[in-house]
Amino acid sequence: MRQRTIAEKISCTGIGLHSGAPVQLTLHPARLDTGIVFVRSDAGRGAEIPARIDRVGSTQLATTLGHNGSGVGTVEHLLAALYGLGIDNVRIELDGPEVPVMDGSAAPFVFLIRAAGIFEQRGARRVLRVRRPVEVRDGERMARIDPCRGFRISYHIDFRHPAIGRQDLPDFELSEGSFERELSRARTFGFLHEVEALWRAGLGRGGSLDNTIVLDERQVLNPEGLRMADEFVRHKALDLLGDLALLGLPLEGRVRVVRGGHALHQRLMRALLDTPGATEIVTSGRGTPHPEGSLAEARASL
Ligand code: ZN
Repeated sequence: MRQRTIAEKISCTGIGLHSGAPVQLTLHPARLDTGIVFVRSDAGRGAEIPARIDRVGSTQLATTLGHNGSGVGTVEHLLAALYGLGIDNVRIELDGPEVPVMDGSAAPFVFLIRAAGIFEQRGARRVLRVRRPVEVRDGERMARIDPCRGFRISYHIDFRHPAIGRQDLPDFELSEGSFERELSRARTFGFLHEVEALWRAGLGRGGSLDNTIVLDERQVLNPEGLRMADEFVRHKALDLLGDLALLGLPLEGRVRVVRGGHALHQRLMRALLDTPGATEIVTSGRGTPHPEGSLAEARASL
């Protein structure tokens, strides 16, 4: 497998979930080994933020990279689309502090990337291979990662809510087209009392039924209903993919999450990187470790 970028630059405009303000997003092709880098065009030169776990500022409500003022918020659905389509290198230019929320799913970003085209570069892709199981727990919440060929996830949620309940995504395997088909269209969701509290706090001003599934105590309030019966757990898996993109390299392993969220995903990723011998960097498609691929390098570069 070779590294991939997009074939040409492409833009879209939307609104920020929290600011409610319009923001323009432009994806630019990027050279080999650039990774995924955000650029705030409104914040002067040098305002570049790599999409990496060591740059995560907050995981409340959404994943934010960097710090207030020059940071970038609500990155996870765009990162999920890039991960799901196997894009290694891209520069993401924004003229505001948030990635536009679009319809609350990753589908508009998939559309954008497909419209630009995907370009295979002259360099082998490196992957982060899991060698030993790592697990984190928090009460009834659990996240675990095991060695596995390829990349698979399973996700389980259990909400005491009549419209959600228990939902299981037993075994999603990332392959060409599988993200688009199975996860990309699942929208973010929130409860009416939470949404109202956000509005009172001056947040979530861009949130509406156009970009969020909103539930009251009994039911979904969006007039069009759900896109699929298990849209909630599929969105959780989409969020997980967006968080895993912050490892900086595609993962080779199997991830299992029960009742997770951004904070638990981050804890799992940190535990993975902090456990000696849990990972190695290998060139994709080969069994041998990358010449530069040592744990020390992985931890230093991630
Ligand atoms: Zn989400």
